[in-house]
Amino acid sequence: MGNAFVRALLLSGGMDSAALANWIKPDLAISVDYGQIPAAGEMRAARAIAGHLGIPHEVVVTDTRGLGLGTMSQAAQRPSVAPEWWPLRNQLLLTLAVMRLERVGAGEVFIGTVGSDSEHSDGTPKFIASFNGLLEAQRSLIRVSAPAISMSSEQLIRQSGISRDLLGWTISCHASDVGCGECRGCNKHIEVRATLDSAS
Ligand SMILES: [Zn+2]
Repeated sequence: MGNAFVRALLLSGGMDSAALANWIKPDLAISVDYGQIPAAGEMRAARAIAGHLGIPHEVVVTDTRGLGLGTMSQAAQRPSVAPEWWPLRNQLLLTLAVMRLERVGAGEVFIGTVGSDSEHSDGTPKFIASFNGLLEAQRSLIRVSAPAISMSSEQLIRQSGISRDLLGWTISCHASDVGCGECRGCNKHIEVRATLDSAS
């Protein structure tokens, strides 16, 4: 044992990572409750999605709520960054997923980054390449992949073949655990569903 190659996916419970789960059928889905306000809703959605797809699901809990900023935390956002920006979020989530996979020794961690995430500095090809460079510098055999990084959410959802029913389980809210209908996450969710509905 110890030579298995495990394909893991960071599953937030949102539509992009749910679509990626349906597309790549990972060996393991990892969700992180890092103290974000919508954590309960995200974990509920992630559990339902992984369960429906028959993917083993693990939740990592780490309380960084005292270090967050913006709509997903209790702290006021810094000026001139996106309202939901949380410092080093993807770096934290990927680090935790890699730490989990190091128990196996080799593998791949998938993240559901899409093209529009590039407005966040941790949603860019440069970030993914830099993170992989960091893993290499630490002699890790694990690598991060973001196969939808040049796709839109709509393209990813079509490519993935995810069912409308399963998509209905996803939650993208930044501000509550049930979907506030007003934040940028909810707005994107509503827009993507409307685009998909109008095209079908
Ligand atoms: Zn919302």
